[in-house]
Order: sequence, then structure tokens, then C-alpha cells
Amino acid sequence: MARVVVLGSSNTDMTVHLPRLPTSGETLLGGSFFSGPGGKGANQAVAARRAGASVVFLSAVGDDPLGHQALDRYRRETIDVSEVLVVPHVSSGVALIFVNDAGENMIGVAPGANVHLDVAAVDRLPDSVFEPGSVLLAGLEVPLETVASAVRRAQRAGLRVLLNPAPADLRLLDSEILRFVDILTPNHIEVQTLAGQPIGENPESLRSAAEAMLARGVGAVVVTNGKAGCLVLSRDAGETTCRAIRAFPVEAVDTVGAGDAFNGALATAIAEGRPLFESAVWASAAAALAVTQPGAQTALAPRAAIDQLAA
Ligand code: ADP
Repeated sequence: MARVVVLGSSNTDMTVHLPRLPTSGETLLGGSFFSGPGGKGANQAVAARRAGASVVFLSAVGDDPLGHQALDRYRRETIDVSEVLVVPHVSSGVALIFVNDAGENMIGVAPGANVHLDVAAVDRLPDSVFEPGSVLLAGLEVPLETVASAVRRAQRAGLRVLLNPAPADLRLLDSEILRFVDILTPNHIEVQTLAGQPIGENPESLRSAAEAMLARGVGAVVVTNGKAGCLVLSRDAGETTCRAIRAFPVEAVDTVGAGDAFNGALATAIAEGRPLFESAVWASAAAALAVTQPGAQTALAPRAAIDQLAA
């Protein structure tokens, strides 16, 4: 079975739906409440597991009810959480979200335990976590130094490294991380932020931003661009090739977590040894299915459904 090690955040999303967003100092009554699992790392771990990989999750939660609930949820998905840090005296990561009837939102995140996932935690991991032939899928909602340490160790051990640079962090450019990355998977905003370009959706500017990332030493770049699909840039024998993949036409009801569905499925397909372009098409099918359902983790499709849409 393909094996994916996911390094990233675990949060609980707490959403209050109100007719309009409150203003400073205001208390608005009459909302409805929904609480669900989130955090990009956790979403990607669940996405990879449902796509068919065996998944080891490297993350941190607080030693509190939200943290234990999150661990139980990952165990029910049959994700290996034996290396998740349970940090005492710190809260689990929480995102507080207000959404209005127009679908606009305000979000505040308390990263809590996620920032306690430090380099020492990576150093303590047994070599068996970094099994050659596996894929490491890392995100940036945990400390950058921790990501640097994990990607270096993974690359040396013979794993392929996927980095989803979300949120875009310009310190990435000054770190050694990019040269250990086989596949970088920014969305259209992240790639242009990292390339220092104005944000737009024109395919030429996305391509030039992706080329700037290739020039920094990553093996390949996959830029996701919402319902416009994605661009796959890779270098073969010194030549850069750029191919576009259209999004699968679906009725979108909630695009939150589309990128996480894409990354989890892409990591799974790469771990299975499938070529990059074919893997990105399959990941596009997984992401398209995810936008047809509300929620982030609840919307993630099982492998059979991904295969059916991609066929
Ligand atoms: P993120 O959630 O990280 O911002 P994107 O919005 O770029 O990521 O979406 C990731 C991928 O999800 C896209 O490349 C595309 O394949 C798929 N996707 C997103 N929105 C839609 C949509 N409305 N219809 C079909 N596929 C979509």
C-alpha cells in the first residue's frame, strides 16, 4: 500500500452562521453553530487516507477535550496518530469562524498546540517513520524550522517530498527547504506571493510565477487555480514543460478544503509511483468531488468515487 506521512496542523473549526457579520463591540443573537474538524494538515491526512494511502500523521494537539476528540476522529479514519504530540497545559488549535448569509466570513485562529510541534519533536521520531519510497506531504501551519528539519530528513531517507506552501511564508525563500522539495503545490495566490508578483489569474503570470519557483530548485510545481484547474510545470532534461489540467465540471457547493483534497490525493498517487501529470488529473477529480459537499473533512471522497470520476 502507498504510504504518506503528513506533517501539518490539526484544528477544530467552530462556525457561527449569522444573517450578517458583527461589528466591533457588537453582540449578535440568533446564529446557528457548527463545529467540525479542520486544520490543513488534518484535512490532508484524511484526504490521503480516503484516497487509499496508509497515513502517518505528524501534528500536535493540546491535552484537552478538543485534542482527544481530534485524535479519536483520526483513529476512526485509521490514520496512524502514534507520533502526534499531546502537549500539556496548551489548548488545541481552534479556528473561530463567522459566516453570513452571503457566504462571507471572518476567521480568527488560535494555533495552540500546533506551534509546539518543534524541531526536537522531529529529531525524536524513529527512522521507521521515514520509510524509503513513502511520500512526505508538509504544510506551513506548523513552525517553518520544523518543516525544514522534516523535509531534510525525509529527502535523505529516500522519501519524495511534497510541500503545500499554505499559508505562503516568504521566509521559505531564504530557507533551504525548497531544494529538498520534489513537488511544490501552491494555489494561485500563494505562488504569486512567493514569486513577488501581483496577484491575478492570467495563466501566463501563473506560469511565470511557477517558473520562478522551479528556478529556486524544486523538482516540479503544481499550481492549483480553483475552478480554472491547475498547471503542472516540470523539468525534463533541462527543458521546462508546462501542461494545464482543466477542473472537472461539477456543481460546487463549498470550495473550502479543495486544495487539501487535491494535496492528499496527489501525495497518494505519487506514493503509488504514478507519473506526475496523471497524478494531478486524479487529484483534480478528488478535489472536484470535495467541492460538491459542504465542510472540509466530511466532504472528502473515497477512492472508488475518485476513480469513477477520473475514468
Ligand atoms: P485552495 O483550496 O488551496 O485555494 P484551489 O481553490 O486552487 O485550492 O482548488 C484546488 C483544486 O480543486 C483546483 O485545482 C481544482 O482542481 C479543484 N477545484 C476547486 N474549485 C473547483 C470547482 N468549482 N469545480 C471543480 N474543481 C474545483
